[in-house]
Amino acid sequence: MKKTSFLTLEKARQIIREIPTPFHIYDEAGIRQRARDLKAAFCWNPGFKEYFAVKATPNPYILQILKEEGCGCDCASYTELLLAEAVGVTGHEIMFSSNVTPEEDMRKALELGAYINLDDATHVEFLERITHGKVPETVCLRYNPGGSFSLGNTIMDMPRDAKYGMTEDQMAGAINRLMALGTKHFGIHAFLASNTTTNEYYPQLAANLFRLAIRLRNATGAHISFINLSGGVGVDYRPEQPCCDIMAIGAGVQREYNNILVPQGMDDIAIYTELGRFMLAPFGHLVSTVLHQKHIYREYIGLDACAANLMRPAMYGSYHHITVLGKEDAILDHVYDVTGGLCENNDKFAIERSLPEIEVGDILVLHDTGAHGFSMGYNYNGKLRSAEVLLKPDGSFQLIRRAETPRDYFATFDGTEFHFSD
Ligand SMILES: *Cc1c(COP(=O)(O)O)cnc(C)c1O
Repeated sequence: MKKTSFLTLEKARQIIREIPTPFHIYDEAGIRQRARDLKAAFCWNPGFKEYFAVKATPNPYILQILKEEGCGCDCASYTELLLAEAVGVTGHEIMFSSNVTPEEDMRKALELGAYINLDDATHVEFLERITHGKVPETVCLRYNPGGSFSLGNTIMDMPRDAKYGMTEDQMAGAINRLMALGTKHFGIHAFLASNTTTNEYYPQLAANLFRLAIRLRNATGAHISFINLSGGVGVDYRPEQPCCDIMAIGAGVQREYNNILVPQGMDDIAIYTELGRFMLAPFGHLVSTVLHQKHIYREYIGLDACAANLMRPAMYGSYHHITVLGKEDAILDHVYDVTGGLCENNDKFAIERSLPEIEVGDILVLHDTGAHGFSMGYNYNGKLRSAEVLLKPDGSFQLIRRAETPRDYFATFDGTEFHFSD
C-alpha cells in the first residue's frame, strides 16, 4: 500500500516557522482511532485492558491521550513509573514489567499499587523482603518457554536465548510460595516475538498461555485472573508489507479463549496487552530538512536529523519509509543514501533508496517513528534531542517537548569548575 504522510508541505511549513526541524510529530486523531480499534477488537473480553509500553513513546501528553482512551501504562523503570504517576495513571492501571529490577524501582511500583510482573523466580524472595512478607494480592509472572517459538513452519524467535521470564517449574514454585504469603490472584505474561506482521502471533501466544494457565491452576490450585499478551504486534514499515488486522487478531484470541479456557470454567480471565509499536509507530513522523547534498561514489542527501534522533536504521538496519513533502507524486528516478551528520558511517536513514529528485531545503518525512523513535535517542557527537510536537484533530499543533539546548547537555556538569557558553 502506498504510504502517505499525515502532514502536507503547507502544514509542515507552518509548523517549522515556529518549531525548527528536526522534530518528531504525532497525529492525535490516528492515536485515538488506533486505541479505539484495539478496544473494539477485544470488546468480547469484559476485563480487557491495554497497558501502553511507555518506553515506546515516553511523553506525558501521549500517555494522557491514551489514558483518555482507557489505556494504562506498562513501565519498566523508576522514571517510567514517575511518568505514569504524573499523568494520574496509578494502581492497577500500571503494569510493572521490569527485569534486573533495582530495589528502588520495585518500591516505587509497590507504592503506586502497580501490578507487579516478576521476571524471575528469585524475585519472589526479593518482593517478600521489600514488602516484609506483605506481598500484593495479585502478582503477575513472566514466562519463558525456552526452545523456539514457531508459527507454522516459521521460527519467529528463540525464547531459549532470551534473558526474560522463568520456566514453568519455577512459575509453579513461585505461585506456591506467593500463595503461602497471601497472594490470591495471578497473571501470566510472555513476550515471545517482536514486530510480528501475521495475525496469528497473538492467537498462538494466547493458546500457549491459556494451556499454561490450566496446567498451573491444576498444579497449584491458584486463581489465574489475567493473561498478559504483552507487545509484539507489528506495523507495516515497508509500503509493500501486509498490515496486521487487529479485528482478526482479537477474533483469533477469542477463538482460542473459547476453545481452551471456557470449557475449563476459566472464563473470568481478563486479557491484557502491552503494545507499544502497534499503538504509536504509524502515528509519528520524524521531520527533517535537507542541509547538504554531495556527489561522490554515491549520491548523498544530508539531513539535520541523525541517528541520535532515530536509531533504528543504524542499530537494526530497519527500513523507514521517506516522503519528500510536496513531491508525493513525483517519479522516483533518483537513488540516494540519506544520512545524518554523526561521525559514524552507519548514520544512514536510507541506503540506495529510490526517491524523487531532492534539493537542499526540501523537507523530508521519515515514517513510522512514533514508537521506539525519539525514545531511543541519545547524545552522541553532542547531538541534542529534538522537539516533539502534537498535531491535533483540528489541525492545530502543540509543542509537547522542547528541543534540548546545549545547557541541557551540560547540566550534569553544573557545580563543577567548568563554564560553558550557550
Ligand atoms: C518493549 C516491550 C513492550 C512493547 O513492545 P512493542 O513491540 O513495542 O509492542 C511490551 N512489554 C514489554 C515487557 C516490553 O519490553
